[in-house]
Amino acid sequence: MVATGVALSATIVNGTVRGQRVVVVGLGLSGLAAARRCLSDGAAQVTVNDRRRAAEVDLDRYADLTRRGVEFAFGGHDDAVFGEADVIVLSPGVPPLDAVARAKARGVTVVGELELASWFCEAPVIAITGTNGKSTVTTLLGEMLESSGFPTFTGGNLGTPWCDAIGHEPTAPGGRSVIEVSSYQLEATERFRPFVAVWLNLTADHLDRYPSMAAYGAAKARIFLAQRPDDHAVVPADDPVVLAFARAGAAQVHTWGGEHSAVRIVDDAIIGPGGLQVPVGDVGIKGSHNVGNAMAAALAAHLGGATAAAISRTLRSFTGLPHRMQRVVEHAGVVYVDDSKATNVGAALKALEGVDRPVVLIAGGRDKGGSYDPLVQLLRAKARGVVLLGEAAPLLAQAMGDTVPHEVAADMDEAVRRAAALARPGDCVLLAPACSSLDMYKSYAERGDAFARAARALREGAGS
Ligand code: ADP
Repeated sequence: MVATGVALSATIVNGTVRGQRVVVVGLGLSGLAAARRCLSDGAAQVTVNDRRRAAEVDLDRYADLTRRGVEFAFGGHDDAVFGEADVIVLSPGVPPLDAVARAKARGVTVVGELELASWFCEAPVIAITGTNGKSTVTTLLGEMLESSGFPTFTGGNLGTPWCDAIGHEPTAPGGRSVIEVSSYQLEATERFRPFVAVWLNLTADHLDRYPSMAAYGAAKARIFLAQRPDDHAVVPADDPVVLAFARAGAAQVHTWGGEHSAVRIVDDAIIGPGGLQVPVGDVGIKGSHNVGNAMAAALAAHLGGATAAAISRTLRSFTGLPHRMQRVVEHAGVVYVDDSKATNVGAALKALEGVDRPVVLIAGGRDKGGSYDPLVQLLRAKARGVVLLGEAAPLLAQAMGDTVPHEVAADMDEAVRRAAALARPGDCVLLAPACSSLDMYKSYAERGDAFARAARALREGAGS
């Protein structure tokens, strides 16, 4: 597993792009937000660079940037594009690029959109990372702080890029910025300093990008990198690896879920500071993993200034985001549950654990390089059968061998029909793919929508 006691160190970068030549890599929402931010900060030159060829891009959409003097460099990431740069700003989705690595070696400052935004945010920042649960906890935290009366921005890796919020009330003193951060984004940070840094969990994911779990964990640990003693780290009491990373940082460490934690379970209720007490059964998001998410959010929200009343209200009223354990339909005594966001083995395990009926699982998609063995073990105990989809189908089939009955489907309609045929009344057909969707769909949301459509079609009789 991950090496513990890792020393955290930071090299200080400038904190402004005034008078500098900036190249923003990636013409997406984050890249555009970053380009606008650099213009507003007084950059001498802003160039937006993208892998796509000019012919593939509708430049009319970016007329406001062209008018403000932004230049575009399309068709790849050539050394020449970065030759004149003082600062390179990376969009979150950009893979490691050789030309950027060479520029960095020449002394060019390389930062992510997250780091750039952090230079201009004057509000306390509550940042959330972890393998799973980030979006759920980010959304909960945003609502808890908003409901406590703070002008609140909720975004980052989820939804609106943070750079777009700069200059508005939630990023001014007195506001709150609740920012979901991925390990990719954290790789390109130096001064990003959350007042409250939440690290939810660490299980295998993205091992197609990272050489090891240690490297993946070390990227996430950068959330604590620039914290100081008056900042806070929020971590699970029962995860020694995450706890060790937190203790290696400078912030005050707070845990949830342990016997002596500030937020914990007593007599089937979540209790916490300020008299917080919410029976687990009253929490709007369901499943054991969501009890953990609720505790993490409650603790971080308290540290961020939320009231116990607002925390309690939000825990009861928030019932979850789309494509996370959403019950789609019931047909012939079988419930169909969409957990398309379970894009790794850890999330699929939690999804399976969260269902108290025999399960027919629909899994597969693009493999991410981890092991399916933990999933197979649980499937042996819980699954009536498995229907496999996508590129990873042969890998999953191999991992299951003859221990779990499985079939392969060509597309989602067929997968749902096969699952319906395998299921018996009282069962659950669960989409929890343990893989990314990108081999067949644009996103996990599109995959979840395809599942929901196929499941509803069964009931309407159109799918048979
Ligand atoms: P993220 O933004 O980290 O991907 P989400 O809140 O979108 O997290 O949830 C992603 C998936 O992980 C969903 O399938 C959800 O059911 C599952 N999940 C949520 N929280 C946890 C957790 N604490 N541990 C394991 N799986 C989780």
